[in-house]
Amino acid sequence: MIQNIQKFTLDKKQVFNLVLENRYQVDSQTRFLSRCIDGRYENTDNLPALAIPGADVGELALIFATANNFGFDVDYEKVYQSLVKVIGGEENFQYHTDHHGAVGVPASGCGHFKQIKLDLKAYDLTTQDLEFLEKKLMEIKKNNQAKEVVLEGDHIEGAILQVKGNWGVYPRYFFETDEGRREIEVFVFHQSLVNERHRVLVKELIKNKAVIFRNGEDEEWLYEALSDMMDNHLFETVKRLAPDLPIYNVDFEDDGDFKVAD
Ligand SMILES: [Zn+2]
Repeated sequence: MIQNIQKFTLDKKQVFNLVLENRYQVDSQTRFLSRCIDGRYENTDNLPALAIPGADVGELALIFATANNFGFDVDYEKVYQSLVKVIGGEENFQYHTDHHGAVGVPASGCGHFKQIKLDLKAYDLTTQDLEFLEKKLMEIKKNNQAKEVVLEGDHIEGAILQVKGNWGVYPRYFFETDEGRREIEVFVFHQSLVNERHRVLVKELIKNKAVIFRNGEDEEWLYEALSDMMDNHLFETVKRLAPDLPIYNVDFEDDGDFKVAD
């Protein structure tokens, strides 16, 4: 029998209460470690606040897509090494797979990376880019160095949060309904930490000659190009994984006060 699971979406007031309970200060030591936008992460103490589609695999894909779309050349391995430098070592490289609750359902992996593979063109990527990403992931897994996180259960995200400021938001939350307590998750994209990491990353990419410009472009230009492509990648994945979810902006002050806006 097919269960008709009713999807819940969160209104502004519910998002406010979620953020009030689930906010946490960004740890300056680990501020550039990432997680995926996926809502199924456990609310653990060391959860990276910097949430970006596909975690560090998504970051690499983003750089390659920017090169394809904006017209500059990349050295794959040097791009990878530049990111590793920014995150403080290969052991900090973050990616995730998953497995669903149902027996016999194979792991489908990261939703963002899966969507990329299904439609390279929409994400401005080539089969050559994908080959490198998959080869690199296999290599990392073999070295058993990086943080492969396994996410459990079904997607029950009820909103998409676009976060700014020096605070992170845990994705899992219980709220009261007429039928009792109900668990819900939120997709989180951490706009300001992503931007901040991109500032450092573009310097590193240029310094290491991981990117080769064709027309004398500079650091600022690369930063803007990455930001543009970031919006595209986020949009493509949200469109595919969560077309009906409301999007809220959550803007933090340094002291943890915040505003939620539609
Ligand atoms: Zn993911």
